[in-house]
Formats: sequence, structure tokens, C-alpha cells
Amino acid sequence: ADGARIPALVIGTGYGGCVAALRLAEAGVDVQMVEMGMAWDTPGADGKIFANTTSPDNRSFWLRTRTKQPLSNFLGFPIDKNIPKYTGILDAEDFAGITVYQGRGVGGGSLVNGGMAVTPKRENFGAILPTVDANEMYGTYYPRANAGLGVATIDPDWFESAECYQYARVGRKHAQRSNFPFVFVPDVYDWDYMKQEQAGTVPKSALAGEILYGNNHGKKSLQKTYLPRARATGRVAISPLHKVTSVAPASGGGYTVRIEQLSTTGAVTATKEITADRVFFAAGSVGTSKLLTKLKATGALPALNGEIGKGWGDNGNVMCGRANHLWDPTGALQASIPTGGIDNWAAGGAFAEVAPLPTGIETFASFYLSITKNPHRAQFTYNPTSGGVDLNWQTAWKQPGIDAAKTIFDKINAKEGTIYRTDLFGTYKIWGDHLTYHPLGGAVLGKATDNYGRLHGYSGLYVIDGSLIPGNTSVNPFVTITALAERNIDRIVATDL
Ligand code: FAD
Repeated sequence: ADGARIPALVIGTGYGGCVAALRLAEAGVDVQMVEMGMAWDTPGADGKIFANTTSPDNRSFWLRTRTKQPLSNFLGFPIDKNIPKYTGILDAEDFAGITVYQGRGVGGGSLVNGGMAVTPKRENFGAILPTVDANEMYGTYYPRANAGLGVATIDPDWFESAECYQYARVGRKHAQRSNFPFVFVPDVYDWDYMKQEQAGTVPKSALAGEILYGNNHGKKSLQKTYLPRARATGRVAISPLHKVTSVAPASGGGYTVRIEQLSTTGAVTATKEITADRVFFAAGSVGTSKLLTKLKATGALPALNGEIGKGWGDNGNVMCGRANHLWDPTGALQASIPTGGIDNWAAGGAFAEVAPLPTGIETFASFYLSITKNPHRAQFTYNPTSGGVDLNWQTAWKQPGIDAAKTIFDKINAKEGTIYRTDLFGTYKIWGDHLTYHPLGGAVLGKATDNYGRLHGYSGLYVIDGSLIPGNTSVNPFVTITALAERNIDRIVATDL
């Protein structure tokens, strides 16, 4: 409520925010979580909470009047359409050189993502978080995160026969024929539920093409894992459709936090001020970086250091499709949850997930999301003219990522006698180089913060989300974000409370 004084405020309800809230509450601290997106706990007119990928509606996008689907075209035709402006679930946030996709709502990115829950290979960890003790991470915090998130791997026997993974088996065959290792990718999707979807005994989610705009069944988002545990402590309150706009030192100690309440068309319906002893920035890499960059530049938090806004990367995301021969169909029924990847990280700097194209028809296409070793890092800066925060990433900076992905797909195409698809991202365009799903960095651990996420310059301010990670994790990021949050909050609870 307006004017309240609280011990701990958490900005955002994604992975970092949920870990912080649960562990603080378990330690006896009352926690207020503030989330700009909706609660996503009430069915719409069609009886479902979330919209389908094949028929996006107002629920699908954050305050847009037209969809901005990651695959903008099919068979050369644009597939985007007009929708009513609404506080929908997926934000396609445009910066000058890149569109950054993010989840909006209670559960953050866990609502929209593919659930691929990958722990990086230990040999790569030193390059991901150089100041963090790998023994602690692999001995304690990665296992804790995997257990808390409900991570599991597909039953390999079922994989061999499931109709919905024909596309993944084709992906494996092509990888192996070119001598690339194919690895199963763990996920938080309930694999037993998916078996029942394939058997036709339960309502379909992954097998109905649900992904990007939420999954009505099967996926263990944070709504089913960390959040119920946090609520069960009785110490965690969550305010959806509330957006933090300012944090500044309060005269009597602690921090004054300004919050806007939003309507479902994005209008500000109320402005509130509360005082918090501790504030945890968990608004995601982009959300936290934008807030901190603006607060430093406008004088609300002038003592933040010069590392704020720096070290941002795209996790090397690039997408592409390949056209298969007519004797290599990938299946009309495709599970929306990817289950395997091609690992060429050590030799070529690319880890490529075999992704679905859940169109409901046979496409003879193989589709891939690659995570690559792209060295480019961008910076957020405050723009006094617009009052917003810019990011100086350039589209041309995707080239090292494309080159890395080509170490896999040029070879596969040569071996199979196949070509790239040119109709998925425009006309005659091979590479999806305009976006990322994996924003990382902007308030890097050990630079903008100490080695546990305490912001330099202010005691009681913490960063606990993907902005701590300097731009790349070599695999999908949320397990690392969760594990790092578990590590940092352990220390903070033990020494700061
Ligand atoms: P987030 O999960 O982004 O949470 C931040 C929250 O803060 C959001 O809910 C946001 O609405 C809220 N917020 C922001 N600003 C404010 C503010 N000012 N006030 C109040 N609230 C605010 N990763 C994987 O590991 N595996 C995958 O399979 C995968 N697939 C993906 C697919 C898609 C389409 C997308 C978009 C992402 C995917 N990711 C995947 C990435 C993963 O979801 C993110 O890395 C992860 O969610 C980031 O966690 P976080 O805690 O840093 O922040």
C-alpha cells in the first residue's frame, strides 16, 4: 500500500526474483514482490489462460497493436497481424539494432520460454562467471536450482518412437552423419504429461503448439515451482501490474521506491511510494539495466559505479532453417518443446538446438536456435531527449554468431545436399539475426556489484537476475541465473540480515 515501510522489496518475478523471495521469506523476512506484467491465473473468454502460437491475440504481446512474431514470414508471406493493445505476455522490445524478447507477468521469462534447462559444461564455466567458485556451483547451487525448477530429461526410449519428435530424430540423424555430437537437452516440461498428450488422454499443450505465449498444461513454469513455495511461507506478497520507476535513498534510511499501477491497456492508474530497507533488482537483464542506468544518470542513485549498463550480450542467439529432401519429412505434429541439440562449442563456438516449427503441416524444414560464442558486448545509456534508455547493439554484430552457426550447418548442408531456408525471416533471408531470447549482462557480477550482487555505492541494494552474467552462458541461461541467485542469496541471508 502507498506509504508503507517494508523490510524487502523484490522488483520482478522471474528466476532471480523468485529465488530471492523464497529464501528471504524462509529466513523470516517479509517480502513484497512487484511485477509489471499480469498474474496469468485467470482464463480468458476461450476458457484458457494462455493463447496459442498459431492464433495470437491480445494476450500474446506486451502493449503492441500488431504481433511481432520471431518467425515473421512463412513461405515468403508475412504472418503478423493486428491485435488489441493489452498487457500481454511476450514483450518484443525494440532497440536500434536488436529486438529483445522477454516474458511479462508473474513468473517472468518462465511463462514464455521453451523450458530448456541446461547446466553448462563445467569446462566452460570459467569463461561464463570467472569470479565464481565452480566447486560450489557444481557441488551445491546447480543441483539446488535443478531440483527447485523440476528439471528432467526425456525418456530416451519414448523419444525413439514419439511421432511428435520426428523432427528431432531427423535433426539428430543429420548431425551425426556430419560427425557432430547430438545431446539431449533437459527441460522443465512434465515429460509424463507429454506422453499422455501423445496418447490423446489429456488436453494438449506442447502438442498443440503452445509456446511463446504461455503453456496451459505441462510446463513447470515458476508458477508451479518456486512461487507456490514462496507463497506457502506466508511472508511473500505479489503485486502484478505494478511497475517500479524509481529507487532512491530515503531520508530516514532505506530506499524510497516509486511504483506505477497499470491498467491492462498500459495506462497508469495510480502512483505509489513505499520505503524498503532492502531492494532486490530482479527485473531481468534489460529491466534491471534500464532502471539502474536511468537512476544513475538522473541523480537518483548517483554513487552507482561506471560499470552500470555495460557488458550486455545476446548469448550469441541466431536462428536458421534448412530445407530437407522430400524423403526426410520432419512431421506435421511437432512438440513445441525442443529436446536435443548439436554441440560444436569447443570446435566451432556453437551449440544449436533442434527447434520445432509447430505449424501443424509438413514443412520438410529443420529449424535451429543456435547459442554461439559471439564476443560483442553492448552498453545501455540514458537518453535525456527521450527520457528512455538506449542500447548500442548493432545488427552487424551478429556476424560472429552466424559464422559460428555456419560451422555446423554449412557442413550438414554439404553432406546432405540440402540448402538453407530463405523464407522464414523475410524474403531471401537466411539468418534470424534481428533478435535475442537470452539477454544477459548490464550489471555484471564483480564489476557493477561485488561478487555476490551487492551494488557498489549503496548498502541494501542488490542485483539478482540475468544482468549479473556477462553476456553469454554457452547454453540456455535460466538454470545458471537460478543457480547464481541461489548462491548469492545464501551469502546475503547469512551475512547481511
Ligand atoms: P525475467 O525472467 O525476465 O524476469 C524479470 C521480470 O521483471 C519480468 O516478469 C518483468 O515483467 C519484470 N519487470 C521488468 N521491469 C520491471 C519493473 N520496472 N517493475 C516491475 N517489474 C518489472 N532460457 C532458457 O534457459 N531456456 C529456454 O528454453 C529459454 N527459452 C526462451 C524463449 C523465449 C521466447 C524467451 C523470451 C526467453 C527464453 N529463455 C530461455 C530465456 C529465459 O527465459 C531468461 O533468461 C530468464 O527468464 C531471465 O530471468 P531473470 O530472472 O533474469 O528475468
